[in-house]
Amino acid sequence: MEKALKKLVAFACIHLNLAEEDALYVYQMLLGHYKGLPPYEGDIDEGSLRALDRPDEIRKELAEHLLKMGYVGKRLDEEISFLFGAVTPLPSKVNERFHVLRQTDPFKATEYLYNLAVYSDYVKKSAIEANVHFDYMASWGKQIEVSINLSKPEKKNSDIAKLLGAPKVSEYPPCALCYQNLGYYGDDKHADRSNLRFVEIDIEGEKWYLQFSPYGYFKRHCILFARDHTPMEISPRVFKALLGFVDLFPHYFIGSNADLPIVGGSILNHEHFQGGEHLLPLTKANMRKRLVEKGSLTVDVVDFPVSTLLVRSPNKAELLLAAEKILSCWRVYDDEENGIFSQTEGKKHNTTSLICRKEEGVYFLYMMLRNNRCDETYPDGIFHAHPDKFHIKSEGIGLIEAGGLFILPARLKRQMAQVAECVEQKYTLEEAKKHFDDIEPFWVSVEKIRETGESIEDYLGDVCQNILKDVAVFKEDGVGQAGIARFVEACEL
Ligand SMILES: [Zn+2]
Repeated sequence: MEKALKKLVAFACIHLNLAEEDALYVYQMLLGHYKGLPPYEGDIDEGSLRALDRPDEIRKELAEHLLKMGYVGKRLDEEISFLFGAVTPLPSKVNERFHVLRQTDPFKATEYLYNLAVYSDYVKKSAIEANVHFDYMASWGKQIEVSINLSKPEKKNSDIAKLLGAPKVSEYPPCALCYQNLGYYGDDKHADRSNLRFVEIDIEGEKWYLQFSPYGYFKRHCILFARDHTPMEISPRVFKALLGFVDLFPHYFIGSNADLPIVGGSILNHEHFQGGEHLLPLTKANMRKRLVEKGSLTVDVVDFPVSTLLVRSPNKAELLLAAEKILSCWRVYDDEENGIFSQTEGKKHNTTSLICRKEEGVYFLYMMLRNNRCDETYPDGIFHAHPDKFHIKSEGIGLIEAGGLFILPARLKRQMAQVAECVEQKYTLEEAKKHFDDIEPFWVSVEKIRETGESIEDYLGDVCQNILKDVAVFKEDGVGQAGIARFVEACEL
């Protein structure tokens, strides 16, 4: 163990900016943590450490020793995070370096923070690379992205809705996004966060924190979260915050989930945005129709199933005004012909998911029009994935997926292999049931693949594009498109 710890410290000096003058101090602290391990007197091969692009080898060696010392399961993960946290520079140092870099080059600043997150074992690069990820050519002639995420637990819409309404329990840390996670060792209910580092960012006079997602869905998937534990909102204040972020980091997009369950993301009770160095399929789509052109402001309907308005302008004030008008009009907008009701039984249904980018001085705000109403036919959401797709995806369709990048649950890797086997072996349902316990909901998949001869990937891609069509409040037919044009007119831009 003493050798593994010395290696960890040397690794941190090379990859984590641990100062040479702190190395001995940290090493001795760690030896003391394990009740007086003797120092390792031999040399460490720094050349081989330098070549590492991730900490896996170091983690593996530490884990082997920790297992022998009796650390198992979650305790083992917590202790490994603790060790990486101990050799990662203090939050103040990380903040200082990030902001020094940001002054001259925001790209270098975010790269610094990302690499620190990888080498400190917070961003699980190998786990991310193990995910299944492929592109699918959608019916509108552009690709959507489909991934099977092996690390993300599947959540139910009803649980998310419950969480939002739940009284604030006296838990510590209060939630997974609260700043109190910084340096938290972890316990039965809370994840280990000893190795977490985030930086403080000032946007429009408000404090936000920026960190990278441990199981990122795309390149440089980052999370910007509010200092205070306050619920998600979609408001002019949020438009300003998004625009402020792309002013600071124009090489990233930033987006916000809607502020209502079913159409939102998994955490509604702590305000946060998601962003990164990636172009979501929605932001690569063509324009279907220009509805407004006024000065330097344009509003287009995007050629994409999810009903999206792209509001564009180089003038921030002009864009903000248009976005505010669209939002306030949408909040109370009804369109009976398209089944859109903004309120029923005192419950509000209309909201937007947002994606913001900046390109050559022009702001792009994608406003996805969303509605979370349910009825007898669709008790889980009218503009949500319909039940014939639940075996593939039943969770809420948040901004990333509505933007065309699907994150499907880990179970599908196993279930799709079973589907493939049923197709290949020409099993009947009765035979298949003997081999696979939970094949029945997937029998529709087996039959469809048999009928079309398509690959598993094409099958999944097709389901995903159809989910996007379910999500659309204004469908792509004549009635829907006339509806969205009527709505934009009503906004009086
Ligand atoms: Zn919180």
